[in-house]
Amino acid sequence: MDEKDLSHFAERAARWGADYRAGLGERPVRPPLEPGAVARQVAPVPPETGEAMETILADFERVIVPGMTHWQHPRFFAYFPANAAPASVVAEILVAAMGAQCMLWQTSPAATELEVVVTDWLRQALGLPDGFSGVLQDSASTATLAAVLTMRERALGFTGNRTGLADRPALRVYASREVHSSVDKAVWIAGIGEDNLVKLPSGGPSRAVDAAALEAAIVADRDAGRLPAGIVSCVGGTSVGGTDDVAAVADVAARHGLYLHVDAAWAGSAMICPEFRTFWTGVERADSVVVNPHKWLGAQFECSAHFLRDPESLVRTLAIRPEYLKTRGRDGVVNFSEWSVPLGRRFRALKLWFLIRAHGLEGLRSIIRDHVRWAAALADGIATDPAFELVTPPMLSLFSFRYRAPANVDPDRFTLDLVEAVNRDGRVYLTQTAVDGRAAIRFQAGAFGTTEADVLSVHAVVGEVAARLAAEIAAGGR
Ligand SMILES: *Cc1c(COP(=O)(O)O)cnc(C)c1O
Repeated sequence: MDEKDLSHFAERAARWGADYRAGLGERPVRPPLEPGAVARQVAPVPPETGEAMETILADFERVIVPGMTHWQHPRFFAYFPANAAPASVVAEILVAAMGAQCMLWQTSPAATELEVVVTDWLRQALGLPDGFSGVLQDSASTATLAAVLTMRERALGFTGNRTGLADRPALRVYASREVHSSVDKAVWIAGIGEDNLVKLPSGGPSRAVDAAALEAAIVADRDAGRLPAGIVSCVGGTSVGGTDDVAAVADVAARHGLYLHVDAAWAGSAMICPEFRTFWTGVERADSVVVNPHKWLGAQFECSAHFLRDPESLVRTLAIRPEYLKTRGRDGVVNFSEWSVPLGRRFRALKLWFLIRAHGLEGLRSIIRDHVRWAAALADGIATDPAFELVTPPMLSLFSFRYRAPANVDPDRFTLDLVEAVNRDGRVYLTQTAVDGRAAIRFQAGAFGTTEADVLSVHAVVGEVAARLAAEIAAGGR
């Protein structure tokens, strides 16, 4: 295939994509496959001579598509959503065609300047004060790594990158038990070490970090000669939506001069609705905030918005300027590669620009409000059904529940078997989590294609599969 065939095959790919999405509801959400089933169908050695695009596309449909989990499916209720709204897909096609590397202003001026403007649109949409500057990272994990590296460098007077961490007091980072594993990974990679990530108890209906315990831990560490560096606060934890009192955490951070990073990777998108902003009251006092438009907001993966109150400390941590990367005579322009761990960067701003313009903020708000309302209705139905038990109440569109296990059956085992049976059934897709040490089924509504009927169907589908599973157990079939 060469340039002259691009138009033909790109049009076919676009048409295939539209048909695929129109027919998603008829497919099982997760493919009923055993590991290895796809790899077995792919040639184990690469071809020496080029193959026809027709053959390659046919193999894509035959081998690859049946092995996909369909994240745009209307009944995808697992993990968090990864919405790719049609407008953002179109933008990604254009970005793929241009194939630009957007590391410096001069390597794609429009990409850099649009990123500055569109992250500021998003800042306004989320109700963050001006003074926050935005950058689009590939993922929240990268944004949090950048934040942890910045905490480390700030605590070390910006000498850690040069001298390393040997012979330093132990750096300490604080978070609740509800934070995402990306925080653990960030402290590994930053050389701080998992033993120095202090996980504090959380409690109350919102599973907020215990601010008094947080402060006590910081004081005890200082007294013991350790070096507190920063706090990661959680708004909408991945398991069941655990949410800190950010204002209380910001008070502690301010009293002890610590860097505060707020992880609102999933829940942040809902902050375009003013009524949900009470979930992160105090966020304006954070040093950095991460929100993933690639989850609930509809910007195709990957698109993670990282907001900074003082980008200078991030740039001091991450900018490396060898001679060949300097853009002479253009002082004052933003070079976003200095704001992130990788040097190379994709043009991520275009899809956010297309998305926000195509839907308007009101359009996006109404999608998110529907999801929250429908999830609440499903949770109500489950809570009042004696066969079920609501485990954690809805945080936005996320809650957890159980089907009551038959007598003499280990309830955790039953819950995990039920999740697997539901996902093999394929009508809906859910995941499990652990709540206070016990297995629970986790539900979130967030797919752009979902409807109220799709959301409410979870009650009947899980009830039916659970009754079948219980009958099999009673019959001694398992
Ligand atoms: C999804 C999620 C992450 C990780 O996001 P990536 O963009 O996949 O790295 C981090 N924190 C929270 C709270 C999340 O929900």
